[in-house]
Amino acid sequence: MGYGSSGRILRVDLTRGECVFDQLDDDTYRLYPGGKALAAYLLLRELPPGVDALSPDNVLVFACGLLTGAPLSTASRFTVAARSPLTGAYGESEAGGYWGPELKMAGVEAIVVTGRAEAPLYLSIDESGVALRPAAHLWGRDPHDVQQEIRTELGDNFVRVLQIGRAGERLVRFAGLTNELKHFNGRTGMGAVLGSKNLKAIAVRGKTRYVKRAHEPAPITELGTRLSRRVKDQPQSWDLQVKGTPSLMEVLNAAGMLPTRNFREGVFEGIERIGWAAYERDILVGRGTCYGCAIKCKREIEVKEGRYAVPRTYGGPEYETLQGFGGYCGVDNLQAIAKANDVCNRHVVDTISTASTIAFAMECFEAGLIGPEDTGGLELRFGNTDAMLAMIDLIVRREGIGDLLAHGTRHAAAAIGRGAERFAIQVKGQELPMHDPRGKVGVGLGYAVGEGGADHLCAVHDTLLANPQSVGFKAAQPLGVESLSVYELGERKARNYSILENWSSFGKVVGLCFFGPAPRSFIRIDEVIDTVRAATGWDFSLDEALRIGERATNLARAFNVRCGLGPADDCLPDRLFEPLPAGPMAGVGISRPDFEATVQQLYRLKGWNPATTAPTRERLRALDVEWVADLLEA
Ligand code: SF4
Repeated sequence: MGYGSSGRILRVDLTRGECVFDQLDDDTYRLYPGGKALAAYLLLRELPPGVDALSPDNVLVFACGLLTGAPLSTASRFTVAARSPLTGAYGESEAGGYWGPELKMAGVEAIVVTGRAEAPLYLSIDESGVALRPAAHLWGRDPHDVQQEIRTELGDNFVRVLQIGRAGERLVRFAGLTNELKHFNGRTGMGAVLGSKNLKAIAVRGKTRYVKRAHEPAPITELGTRLSRRVKDQPQSWDLQVKGTPSLMEVLNAAGMLPTRNFREGVFEGIERIGWAAYERDILVGRGTCYGCAIKCKREIEVKEGRYAVPRTYGGPEYETLQGFGGYCGVDNLQAIAKANDVCNRHVVDTISTASTIAFAMECFEAGLIGPEDTGGLELRFGNTDAMLAMIDLIVRREGIGDLLAHGTRHAAAAIGRGAERFAIQVKGQELPMHDPRGKVGVGLGYAVGEGGADHLCAVHDTLLANPQSVGFKAAQPLGVESLSVYELGERKARNYSILENWSSFGKVVGLCFFGPAPRSFIRIDEVIDTVRAATGWDFSLDEALRIGERATNLARAFNVRCGLGPADDCLPDRLFEPLPAGPMAGVGISRPDFEATVQQLYRLKGWNPATTAPTRERLRALDVEWVADLLEA
């Protein structure tokens, strides 16, 4: 095996109770060097189409990035992927924290889980071996207690624990995973897949530092040191450290594009009570970080007393959660939002889909499609704080209407009928994050074509490149993108999006956080390439990086085509084509013909057949994965 990777893949068959190791060969490693690429490759090869996401036959992959665990800021991410129970398509979620680096230090690049255990188990991994252990006593308990119990059982307080919560155990279709209690693989329902397999947790302990497997350690450690100093000098990384993502509240509200009341509006009247200024003043108690990251964008909060009391245990709400349980549900009580975040984190359920599903139900209630007889008497209207909190409980417990909502908005809308679909703000079954594409249309392209459904991390947002004098645009120059208006659609926007998606996809392959590399933040593009070169010893270029990113996306796209998805699935909710009613963006909506034409241009640029959205044989050959064309034709 080459440098930068042990090449070891752990295969766990839960039905048989077997754990065996496989070895990646060098050619496979070069084409799919980790994270998203390796996960999509393994899924496409090993998961037949038509397998139900919650059946024992679903395949679940955990994959470290090529740089996961390297001693430099933001190199902490790992990928979890499987067929999604929320979308029925390719499901994938990345998280930082500490578990991925620990797995890499234990000499394991990926874990492939198949089958279903008869009773709950957890998996423990260290450099001396692996074991499946009973977990019935951990089922139904808070993540903090589960983590402590596992550490006690293994006699090691430094074991890193990745686990599902009660939402995953109960198969809530947007259940996630957490590591170190504060870092979440939130999206696409990977926690429910683990729950369906009766696998509660994976505990990992590794001791071989990343640089031991690197071709040339010095440039990697030197970059790590430089980044630690640079964080204060680079405006985007410094802003993330000082304020974290919650500061987006005021920024997006002032721009008139803060998703409010289920994307009906772009300005929230309660912003002063739930924005960053209130957050910092009223609930902030500290800053947290991921493995080795100098940015420290994580917020720690506490609400000391009262009915919304929240301990510091599970981390503070990020922007998405703050606005999701805030203006998106019409709620202006910061302590109640903190409580909603805490409840979701204790049950380990995606805060974006949970909040969006409740906002959907609120709109259905106000439109008379559901009533108190459906909600157990709750007046489920926008702004009803306690009804929102009660609804989270119903969803994670799968009780009453919560059982229906636990399937997500697409499924719930189909069951409710009578036009409820127009209130389900989702793509491919996954609910939209808190970014309004009416104010940054490239994000809408990502929502539409993203293989996992609506995802705001498919590509750098248009706002970063709109000003040709900005730090972000200048840092993006090696990518060959243009500075374009946030509203511009057409060929040039499709080209920008395509390049930026390939770059972001590459970030998910190497395990760098979205907030690490330029143009979003402070690691220059040439430094990323040099670091991969130092880690692997490869003659590596930006062109190869973009091809790796594109290859990974094409594998996921091919997976979706095999699941039966097509052009009709690459769309946006109707609401986004309607103009915003008030605020700085009053009257602004997305032009449907222009948007649909841009999606067609994107297909052409990507080499996808517009009739099926399948990558063409020519494009797959150019990406050195012609075997995928054979698979699609078969
Ligand atoms: S920028 Fe934030 S989320 Fe990303 S690795 Fe650093 S601390 Fe973690």
